[in-house]
Amino acid sequence: MAEQKRDYYEILGVEKNADDAALKKAYRALAKKYHPDMNPGDKEAEQKFKEASEAYAVLSDPEKRRQYDQFGHAAFEGGGSGGFGGFDFSGADFGDIFGDIFGDIFGSRRSGRGNGPMKGSNIRTSVRISFEEAVFGVEKEIELTLKDECPHCHGSGAKPGTSPEVCPKCDGKGQVVFTQQSFFGTVRNVQTCPECGGTGKVIREKCPDCHGSGYIANRKKIQVSIPAGIDNGQSVRIRDKGEPGTNGGPRGDLLVEVIVQRHPIFQRQEFNIYSTVPVSFAVAALGGEVVIDTVDGRVIYEVKAGTQTDTRVRLKGKGVPTLRNRDVRGDHYVTLVVQVPDKLSHEAKELLRKFDELTGDSLSAAKKAEADKNGAAESKDRKKRGFWK
Ligand SMILES: [Zn+2]
Ligand SMILES: [Zn+2]
Repeated sequence: MAEQKRDYYEILGVEKNADDAALKKAYRALAKKYHPDMNPGDKEAEQKFKEASEAYAVLSDPEKRRQYDQFGHAAFEGGGSGGFGGFDFSGADFGDIFGDIFGDIFGSRRSGRGNGPMKGSNIRTSVRISFEEAVFGVEKEIELTLKDECPHCHGSGAKPGTSPEVCPKCDGKGQVVFTQQSFFGTVRNVQTCPECGGTGKVIREKCPDCHGSGYIANRKKIQVSIPAGIDNGQSVRIRDKGEPGTNGGPRGDLLVEVIVQRHPIFQRQEFNIYSTVPVSFAVAALGGEVVIDTVDGRVIYEVKAGTQTDTRVRLKGKGVPTLRNRDVRGDHYVTLVVQVPDKLSHEAKELLRKFDELTGDSLSAAKKAEADKNGAAESKDRKKRGFWK
């Protein structure tokens, strides 16, 4: 009776003021570690598991915890009936904690899927569109194979004249419960019935048309409305064009991923468009008109005199429409690249030399630099001589 018992808080490794979540977490870790199923034949682990379970049973119950805090182990001595160490576990709730632990240990977490209506899976496909189609939206027709209810058996999968039978393994529930004995009684685990796969029905004679699946695959054409402003990699969802549901559940959805082809001159970032436009040297210097391609067609842009290369201009509202409102659009940024003429006639060359003489004689730069260098050397020389004088 007067055995030496460890403190419950110490056993669980928690503070005296630990809340429910902390207790549960601590116990969960210990239970997982020392559970007899994980340590077959290990008496010490079994003892630790019992100890931790007892500590948790007491501390997780507010009334028992209060008694324990006040009287220590003495609170529960003498009055025990069965259980172990004279402790009565009947009030303790291990239900969800064991659901968790067994879920982890055996990978059989309750899936919740019985034989009720279930939505079908989604189907994914993709469609290629042009840059402009992404900007302004487009209607596309895609073709794909969709499963439909078999008209021969109306989806039951059973040969006409017969019908599916209630699964004998799960009695039509679609789930089986396997039980495990533990120290606190029985732990129940729910799994999808392996016999019927969760449908609750088994087919003895299969429908010859659909081979028992209840579905027939059909090639279908589907219209896809691709909204203006969609970007590469985004998907359009079409409701109820996925896999059929089971047991009367709705169909899944069809997700069409949009692949936008590259454009030879336009690049896109979010809702803005970027491009570069060549500008002749003369137009850049004197000012003038350049033609700029936009997704709305060509625009004439007036370049200011003295425009430098890589000048960026903004064409407001010539970008991509936003998905929410196609009247709200991004901008088009154009980088003006000044072209240096490379195929010049004799006359053009002469004029350019004259032009150069008028604007600073940079063509004679080498000559000038040479002259400057000599001049500088001379003066340096002079200075030197002056120094030695
Ligand atoms: Zn059929
Ligand atoms: Zn079954």
